[in-house]
Amino acid sequence: MSDGERGAEVSAVDRYEPLVGAAVVERVKAKAARLAGKRLQHINATKHGGGVAEILLSLIPLAHSLGLDARWDVITGEGDYFEVTKKIHNLLQGGEGGLSDDDWHLYMSGAARNDGVVDDEAAIVMVHDPQPLHLIDGRNGQGRWVWRCHLDLTDTNAGLWERLAPMVDRYDHTIFSLPAYSQPAKPPSSFILPAIDPFTPKNQAMPAEECRRHLARYGIPTDLPVITQISRFDPWKDPQGVVEASRLARKEVEHTLVMLGNLADDDPEGARIFGDMERFRDERTFIMADGDDADLVNALQSSADIVLQKSIREGFGLTVTEALWKGRAVIAGKVGGIVHQIEDGTNGFLVDTVESCAARIVELLRDPDLRERLGAAGRETVRERFLLLRLLEEELDVFAAA
Ligand code: UDP
Repeated sequence: MSDGERGAEVSAVDRYEPLVGAAVVERVKAKAARLAGKRLQHINATKHGGGVAEILLSLIPLAHSLGLDARWDVITGEGDYFEVTKKIHNLLQGGEGGLSDDDWHLYMSGAARNDGVVDDEAAIVMVHDPQPLHLIDGRNGQGRWVWRCHLDLTDTNAGLWERLAPMVDRYDHTIFSLPAYSQPAKPPSSFILPAIDPFTPKNQAMPAEECRRHLARYGIPTDLPVITQISRFDPWKDPQGVVEASRLARKEVEHTLVMLGNLADDDPEGARIFGDMERFRDERTFIMADGDDADLVNALQSSADIVLQKSIREGFGLTVTEALWKGRAVIAGKVGGIVHQIEDGTNGFLVDTVESCAARIVELLRDPDLRERLGAAGRETVRERFLLLRLLEEELDVFAAA
């Protein structure tokens, strides 16, 4: 690493000082110093797409800026491997059905295929979500193993959990986003809510003119109010419910709806759902898969009159955090981690039906002062509780104890 790179990284943690204060930055530095010389390895299923990749992309450089020896690796899958792991994801979030024996064998074959991924020198191996959970089968070395589950397990499929539990039991520690998600398992658990990096291109302030320019590049009109949902195309994000709510609201207030998504490497279901959603396109309904363009995501999150996240299950919902940080009026599903970000009527609205979502869209589109008030409160919520340095500090506490 060149001095220049090191300088840029060293500045990363210090950039938080104006947001969280010098005392917090110093406290995190002291905690990081206690782990000096110990390697931390994160392992997940994709470098690209979805909240876990989003977090790790920022967490690793932030850890480096604190002098930590952190690395990030991903598992690979062959054939229908990620079809099966998406099935596991859906079942764990409460979906119907079960895994066939063939599915199970395909899933477990991932352990042998990926056994070279684990760094035997790592003092902490942190495995994210169910896709690489089975890596524990090849456990050797002296490292402590932590399983970090980001899913909403409120109503999980008990049969599948019983099948996974023997593997979970072999970990030293588990981390869930909320106590409500924890499941019967032997290792002690911690609870850590995710967070965003305020310094990425996606989350930095974008002037109105630049926002308009990015929207114009994609032919998105700004003559009417814009409402948007930016999410993977996934049944738990209720994309169809968003279109229905927008159509109901349009009977009262004209607006443009932009549904923007990207396709994660470990989510083969996304392309199918995107294809299915295309039938809803009309001159005021944009269904787009250009969500890898961070400038477009930022432009929409920074300039939309309303940001929706009408999820029916949501481990946390970084998209909600991102929109709150940009001072938007947010309407989101009253589920999972979202209810820990939004206090209904204070910094956004929580909804649980298409009709209530439509009613809030109409109310907010008619009331710019209300949008402004909720948005300002939302930004403060994120500054206080959902910035990445807090997440890193809580993980350091777990590593110290694991
Ligand atoms: N995202 C994106 N483009 C898209 C859709 C999502 O960049 O088209 C990002 C989004 O900004 C957020 C992450 O992917 O940072 C999604 O995280 P979230 O927790 O909301 O949902 P997940 O996909 O993990 O279920």
